[in-house]
Amino acid sequence: MKTIIRGALLALWVVSGSGQAQDAEFDVGALIDRVVDAYGGSALTEMRNYEIEEAYIGPNLNQSWSPALTDLNKNNLRLIHDIEGGQAYFESYFKSRGGIFPNLIIASGEDAWTVNLVNGTYGEAQSGDPYTFGGGTMRTTDTLLALELHKGRDTAEYVGSASWLNRPHEMIKMQFPLSPELTVFIDAETHLITRMTRENPQFGALDYVFDDHTEVDGLMAASKVSFSVAGDPNLIGTGRRLRFNRNLAPDTFALPEGLEAEGERIDVSEMVINRLAPNVYHVGQNAGFSIFVDTGNEVVGCGGYPGLTDRLAAFQEATGSHKRLSYQVVTHHHGDHLGGIDEALSLGATLVTVDNTIGAIRDLSQLEPESSRFLSVNQRLTLGTGKNRVEVYDVSTIHSLSNLLFYVPAVRTLFMADHFGSPYATGVPTANRNTVSMAAALEPLDLNYNRIVTAHNARVYTARDFERSVQSFRDFDCPDDRPLCSR
Ligand SMILES: [Zn+2]
Repeated sequence: MKTIIRGALLALWVVSGSGQAQDAEFDVGALIDRVVDAYGGSALTEMRNYEIEEAYIGPNLNQSWSPALTDLNKNNLRLIHDIEGGQAYFESYFKSRGGIFPNLIIASGEDAWTVNLVNGTYGEAQSGDPYTFGGGTMRTTDTLLALELHKGRDTAEYVGSASWLNRPHEMIKMQFPLSPELTVFIDAETHLITRMTRENPQFGALDYVFDDHTEVDGLMAASKVSFSVAGDPNLIGTGRRLRFNRNLAPDTFALPEGLEAEGERIDVSEMVINRLAPNVYHVGQNAGFSIFVDTGNEVVGCGGYPGLTDRLAAFQEATGSHKRLSYQVVTHHHGDHLGGIDEALSLGATLVTVDNTIGAIRDLSQLEPESSRFLSVNQRLTLGTGKNRVEVYDVSTIHSLSNLLFYVPAVRTLFMADHFGSPYATGVPTANRNTVSMAAALEPLDLNYNRIVTAHNARVYTARDFERSVQSFRDFDCPDDRPLCSR
């Protein structure tokens, strides 16, 4: 009882900003020591390598075909991390209505490759840092949270006690590489981590729940893990296998044989500015790109990833035009593409969308936009007039019930999201079911485009790139020598 009262008071102190008081009261280092002991002591602190294999099923939250019905996906993945050798291997198969999306990344010392199992090619990976491509998987493993807690003990901060599943817990805020701060819940009796939570600025609280802790290779680890977004289950673990400190096969981090090299990866770490015409630009960074058109009186944009304000600023700087963003065309209802929606509203833009996407926008927006901030498209809409006009078309594909295509007839350029793309400067982009479905939807529109730009990639594609991609499509079947895929 005494502990609980003290914890509650401490939590208040932290909230009121008196960060020093807690250290005098609570020995966070001693608690971390108990966590380290509970997880295996030196077997944890001197961990050389680990392997995580997991199968998940989950709702396609904010990524469903229809905003009215959440469909399901499967994700099978494996992460092997050779900590002492600085090498990592990540393999995953995401299975959804768009087919199977394999992903294979191998980082071995100097080199980091991404392997395209559909085409049998390999190219330079965006990053060789295991925390970049494996961080999400690492966070699903309580043993690795305990290791990071130990490594970052100098910055760990006690935030109070709490009851979780009717058991007393202590909470510690901790750092994790390339991630917002994490809060771990430590069982006051067993000193095992049973829950971790962190805040996502767009989606709210992300929760990881660890259950059925068992001993594996001399360490403790949860054998059941689930992941929730804003209180709703998002990934439900259906099978987990862990290994620690094993002898790794020498070829674990070698590139598979018989692959062909891709062209150069386009550097998207800085803002990329593609000038398509004096008044038409494709601008973006990392995985978020927009198109902007100065129609003479105003600016019309499309591509709603977070960072819209910065992309618009880059457009304004490049053109010297500071006209208002009057219209922002919303490509579709998926949450990632609505990440910049509040930026668009704050910039004063009217959101061009379809009726059934308005609910998804309202769900994610913090700004409670009035109905007058929406302009609904019924099949097609023209923004601006004459030569500088933008045409917007609504098409349905396997990716989304509704997709708004942004077409600029004067420069014969089409902007789309999520159906087509490649991170490389050259070569035929790999098609999937989304790509062929978009090709079928485009045909009856008979648009005269000769260039395509997209919401995720820096490259300016030709119509021929798209055509060749569609022609080369084949559905991915799980190869016999990759059992993880068929699980
Ligand atoms: Zn999408």
